[in-house]
Amino acid sequence: MAAGEDFASRLLTWFDSHGRHGLPWQSPRTAYRVWLSEVMLQQTQVATVIPYFERFIARFPDFKALAAADIDEVLALWAGLGYYARARNLHAAAKQVASLHCGDLPDDLEAAQALPGVGRSTAAAILAQAYGSRHAILDGNVKRVLARHAAIPGWPGEPKVAARLWLVSERFLPQTRLADYTQAIMDLGATLCTARAPACTRCPVAADCAARLADRTEDFPSSKPAKARPLRRATLLLVENEQGAVLIERRPPTGIWGGLWSLPVAGEGESVDWLLRERFGISVEPLETLPAFRHAFTHFELELTPLLCALIDAPPTALHERPEQRWLTMHRDALPGLPAPVLSFLTRRYPTARPPIEPCPEPSTASSSASKPKASRVRQSPATSASASTSKSRNKPGPNGSRTRPG
Ligand code: SF4
Repeated sequence: MAAGEDFASRLLTWFDSHGRHGLPWQSPRTAYRVWLSEVMLQQTQVATVIPYFERFIARFPDFKALAAADIDEVLALWAGLGYYARARNLHAAAKQVASLHCGDLPDDLEAAQALPGVGRSTAAAILAQAYGSRHAILDGNVKRVLARHAAIPGWPGEPKVAARLWLVSERFLPQTRLADYTQAIMDLGATLCTARAPACTRCPVAADCAARLADRTEDFPSSKPAKARPLRRATLLLVENEQGAVLIERRPPTGIWGGLWSLPVAGEGESVDWLLRERFGISVEPLETLPAFRHAFTHFELELTPLLCALIDAPPTALHERPEQRWLTMHRDALPGLPAPVLSFLTRRYPTARPPIEPCPEPSTASSSASKPKASRVRQSPATSASASTSKSRNKPGPNGSRTRPG
């Protein structure tokens, strides 16, 4: 038996008894359900994903239903799950599948990878689980297992290290049971070969694990070289009109919190008066500076200082004919999809405000100082934006073995 087959057969035997079975997307295991779960599980723990997955499936049972949905509804159902680019990509990908592939996910690695938000490993995992296709995967958990088993030095984010890991992953692929094998190696990383204190005594591939044999499991994989995260400051504008409604706007589709509704944000040094006049056609009187709070993104930390303002002048045309701006009556209107730190601030200030859905624990690498990050997938790990997501768990996922990056 070749080394790869031996690795796979031991892993599959272990999976049959100890793998995770009965997850909601495993039955029925349709391509749509597998794809949806794989995107949701990027950066996020299984336990966190399950209620979101069930809500999505109930509301959007297939690609066509999701493709026909309003992006606002998709974002509202996603609120609290973090990494909102995933929701926008999900919606865009469903439209592509509906229009280009007649509503069926293509069974082709290249075509699957062409979908928004689907990288090589995600595409491979989806096709292996949905269609039993023979493709290697390399998510964060699998990188950790393979880096240890083969004692591959270096940070997996480096191309040459990743290339070695891909080779090992391909070499270990079995000829059959690809769906189970794919789930099995992710489960191994999530449940036994965790970032801290791997359970080597129960591991099915311990006999030839180079890191274990050298008693160096903590050395693999190497951490990402540390880099200081700069602090940026901005002002969060809480503008109330005479009726007590609050001014919100939809953010541009790209950049942090892309496509979500938010209180207006003035960057450091940006004139609040000018911003509100130019962008909204209104004048305000600043009333009170509220306590600042922080939110961590991958590449920087953002300190938001709320500034309470009273509307003093809004011509009849202000905000009219601008669908991306509106007044939100906190005690009456359901909140739209808002970035987690803005939602948290608003619900603290207006305790009777109605979130769009039951709040779920927010995954974390980008966490606010007010609410600590929690997530990692049982394959897996967690900020809130497309361009600004995650952080250190990319290298050393959390205790449950975080999945380190979409793709
Ligand atoms: S023996 Fe330990 S370090 Fe090696 S793959 Fe198994 S759990 Fe991971």
